[in-house]
This record gives sequence, C-alpha cells and structure tokens, in this order.
Amino acid sequence: MKTPRAKVEITETGVKIIRKKSRISGWGVYAAEPINKNKRIITYTGEKISSAEADRRETKYRKQGQIWCFTLNRRWFRDGNVGGSTARFINHSCEGSCYSEVIGDVVWIRASKNIPKGAELSYDYNTDGEAGMDCRCRPNCTNKI
Ligand SMILES: [Zn+2]
Repeated sequence: MKTPRAKVEITETGVKIIRKKSRISGWGVYAAEPINKNKRIITYTGEKISSAEADRRETKYRKQGQIWCFTLNRRWFRDGNVGGSTARFINHSCEGSCYSEVIGDVVWIRASKNIPKGAELSYDYNTDGEAGMDCRCRPNCTNKI
C-alpha cells in the first residue's frame, strides 16, 4: 500500500505550501517553493470569538496539548480550530521563519526571511508561556509556549 501523497495547496496570495507531519509537533506546514522575505503567505482564519469564549476554549484545547486561539486584540480572538485555514497547523518556534501581522481582524502570516523550498514554516506565538507547554522548536529549547 502506498501512503497518500502530501497535497500542495495554493494560498490566497498564490504561495504553494504543503501540510505534513512535523518534526516539531503534530502536523506542520512546509514551503513547496521558495518564499521571499516579507511575503504574505496565508491568513490565519477561524471563528471570531470574545476573549471570555477564547478562555473557555483554550482551557479545553490545552488539555489536548493544542493552541488554536489567536489574539486579535484584548477583546477578540480567532479560533483556528473552527473553520480555520491550513495556517492553524503552522507550529510555534522561538526563532521561526515567519511572523504574524494583525491588521484589524485579519491575521497574516508573513516570511521573516527568505525561505527555501521544503523548509517548515514556523513563527513565534508570543504566548508568554501562558499555555504552560514545553517548546520543542529545537532540542535544547527551555522556553514555555
Ligand atoms: Zn523554542
């Protein structure tokens, strides 16, 4: 039996990415072509929810070892687990290849450097360790996510 081939996805800005198993954690997202520094790669979509609702959901998600709620501002969050794009599978890294940019209620994931084809995409979640989970971005990382 052959395992199914990873499927290339083309984002709203025309960037080719692939979701596949990650060496960091669970699923990851990889560049399927070279991506230039500062390129807008994909938006982090998902249901827009209040901070109170995000607190409730994050408690549940954390027990599953997952983080899905992206902070838009003090009042609003996006839950990537509900109707979210492939961006929700991009892992945290303390020194990632991407960064997030919030414009109103739209979250862009952008390249922080030139990314070669085949590299895993990652960005700093900036959670200040709130989820209390060990960071696995590199073997000796002692940070909490
Ligand atoms: Zn780390």
